[in-house]
Amino acid sequence: MAAASVTRLLPDGDHELHHIYDSRIPVIGVGEGSWPSLVQELRKLTCLPHETVQKRLNGTRKYGVAFEGWGRRNREFIHYFTPQQVSYAYHLSADTMSDLLQESARARHIDAKVLNISRVEGGALVEFEGMASERYDLVFDARGFPKELHPDRHIDISFIPTNTAVIRRCPTMVGAEGDGPFLQPTYTRAVARPHGWIFVIPLTVHTSYGYIFNRDLSSLAQVESDFDAFLETDGISEFEQRAVIPFPNFVHRQIFDGAVARIGNAAAFMEPLEATAIVSAQLQIGMVLHIRLNRPAEHLERDAPVVNRFLIDNMLRYGLFVGWHYSCGSRYDSKFWRHARSRAWPRHRKAAAPEAVGCDALGKFDEMIELMNQSVIDKSDWNRMCAVPLTSYCQVSQGLGCQS
Ligand SMILES: Cc1cc2nc3c(=O)[nH]c(=O)nc-3n(C[C@H](O)[C@H](O)[C@H](O)COP(=O)(O)OP(=O)(O)OC[C@H]3O[C@@H](n4cnc5c(N)ncnc54)[C@H](O)[C@@H]3O)c2cc1C
Repeated sequence: MAAASVTRLLPDGDHELHHIYDSRIPVIGVGEGSWPSLVQELRKLTCLPHETVQKRLNGTRKYGVAFEGWGRRNREFIHYFTPQQVSYAYHLSADTMSDLLQESARARHIDAKVLNISRVEGGALVEFEGMASERYDLVFDARGFPKELHPDRHIDISFIPTNTAVIRRCPTMVGAEGDGPFLQPTYTRAVARPHGWIFVIPLTVHTSYGYIFNRDLSSLAQVESDFDAFLETDGISEFEQRAVIPFPNFVHRQIFDGAVARIGNAAAFMEPLEATAIVSAQLQIGMVLHIRLNRPAEHLERDAPVVNRFLIDNMLRYGLFVGWHYSCGSRYDSKFWRHARSRAWPRHRKAAAPEAVGCDALGKFDEMIELMNQSVIDKSDWNRMCAVPLTSYCQVSQGLGCQS
């Protein structure tokens, strides 16, 4: 996505763009939910009509997330994008999206292992295994999750109580509609389960299922067994076991230093409950390119920390929004849900305290909660946002029964 964005914003070719990857290190290959801004972004980056993009992604139109069994009320509710039933995102096959974007990136592809990336005078130095180092003006570091978290480099946001996913692939549930894209509205299902929750993402070629849980609280065998039971009640008799993926919930303290921009899972990650990873990458790439291409170079030393703080602040706001979904528990009074509601979520105040993170994401999040608790929300506040719009907060709050 970064390479395609550079290609679009610097079309005249008086620069050299290298796309570096290591074919021995696979991409994560999940990431099948998105936000509506991706629909516009892919149209711009590929210059293809929306219908063609959707077909290429094996995509369906996602109008929101359907929650089952979450919160105090034990009822189903939908978190719609705004405006409701107008705005949609894609459910997409993750591998097809990188193929599509590669076609839009005019870059030299280099298959090599990067050993180190460091800031040097006026740019960044990339060191390779078995190849001479290269110096660049700007490097996007998209090497995926850090192997481990260090408090001086990463903000640990494990107030989000999950850390592992089991991914299964099942036959598609949505039929083809002739040659055109699939137009029926679809929703990501997020189903509360005793050990966590299960996502169900409908694509035109398969349905993706993922069980998100905490491996310190539940064993893989317990989760697999509950996953089997769920699929059986869903009427699914065959599935392909895809992967077991451990993940950290974190925000990097140094997302952008002026020459090196961490993006994607290298910059921040949180479990996929609200599918916030691709939209976060869009924001990271967009901000960095905006500053580097539109602001005079002499401002860079001053701009970089401001951009860095802005990105950390936004990633934390997403994190708080996602973690808050656990604050009212679920229909299950299980070890996982007791931990999520009573132990993990209350830690958000310390983890996101301004003095610990250098920005006021927590204050902005608190303001949204206060706003919802007012008996009348003034019209001038209707368009307020904290990572996501006020409408999203209100739908989730009412659905979970936060105010009851
Ligand atoms: C269970 C789960 C569900 C998810 N669901 C969603 C979702 O619904 N929506 C969403 O937006 N996101 C989702 N995500 C997030 C998704 O993982 C990311 O959006 C997406 O994979 C972006 O990853 P990335 O490119 O940052 O890293 P990766 O996919 O890990 O890619 C890393 C790349 O860097 C290269 N690389 C790594 N190390 C080196 C090295 N030393 N030298 C050279 N190259 C290197 C690799 O070859 C690879 O190409 C989910 C994640 C998980 C775990």
